[in-house]
Amino acid sequence: MKKKIFATLLAFTMFFTGFAPVKGDTVVAAEKQHIIVIDPGHGGEGDRNLGAQYNGLSEKAMTLQVANAMKTELEKYENVTVYLTRTDDRFISLEDRAAFAKSVNAEFVFSIHFNASAEHLFYGSEVWTSAFDKYYQAGMNFGNIESAELAKCGLYQKGVKTKLGSSGNDYYGIIRHCVARSMPCVIIEHAYIDHGYDVPLVKSPDFMNKMGVTDATSVAKYFGLKSTALGVDYSGFKYTSVAKPASPVGQDNSDPEVCSINVAATDKASGNVLVEMTAKDSGSPIIYFSYSYDGGKTYSYLQMWDRTKETQSFNVTVPKSCQNPVIVCRAYNSYELFKESNPVAVTGLQ
Ligand SMILES: [Zn+2]
Repeated sequence: MKKKIFATLLAFTMFFTGFAPVKGDTVVAAEKQHIIVIDPGHGGEGDRNLGAQYNGLSEKAMTLQVANAMKTELEKYENVTVYLTRTDDRFISLEDRAAFAKSVNAEFVFSIHFNASAEHLFYGSEVWTSAFDKYYQAGMNFGNIESAELAKCGLYQKGVKTKLGSSGNDYYGIIRHCVARSMPCVIIEHAYIDHGYDVPLVKSPDFMNKMGVTDATSVAKYFGLKSTALGVDYSGFKYTSVAKPASPVGQDNSDPEVCSINVAATDKASGNVLVEMTAKDSGSPIIYFSYSYDGGKTYSYLQMWDRTKETQSFNVTVPKSCQNPVIVCRAYNSYELFKESNPVAVTGLQ
């Protein structure tokens, strides 16, 4: 009788503490099974839902390649089940993708994308998350891990961001439909397929596979997975969690507050003008700057702004053909809004 009570007690204890006995005396924690859904963005016949297309690069094909590589890599880890929302080139609505993820009880949905911009100005990676509550928190935490991993691949990092639509809900459909079904979701925009900084990387051998492995590694770190096959154990991986916001965290809708320049030095022989620039934005970080020596008629490529500094210096080389050089700069925040500086006429170069 005593034995029976003890056995019952043990069973209850195991049930409530989540411990399950295996093989004789050994007792190990019951490992949680993580269900991951990977969503290769876009896809469809004809000219429907192609995603970004540029110089022979096709987003809908690239997202499927990355998603397949991510699944293959993730399946090398223990206690993880991976599904794709599509495995071929077909149209599936965003709502149906989210509904599928819900039907398999997904713990997190990762939507795979590549980027392009109307004027081909921008480059780098960005991650989008929900603006709301625990979904914001999960997306920010994952996004920060992912961004650090993508940076290791040589990609410039624009950050982890949110965007609300006019209805006050998440702007991006896949995020909105997942959150409506109680699943966190991020959109990973790996790189731009239309900018000279990213395209050589995008076209480098094995890049799609590298992106898939990077995404899988970030997921493994986020969930603390381990892989005997890979010989890695992220069960002790630590990250600093962002706080769960009390109210929705929307995007920064205003231009940077400060963008001012002065000319610190000129060098007649080289045509170099040393510009000192100060830029600030309280709503989102300054991430790019550009400069003009012809008073704002033409601008340089966007340059990388050091986010640890509010003031930095750089040389602008004015060609001999420029008769009356006037330096103007622009500071861009992570939402691609810019502020133009005061113009400074440069003398002493001719
Ligand atoms: Zn896309």
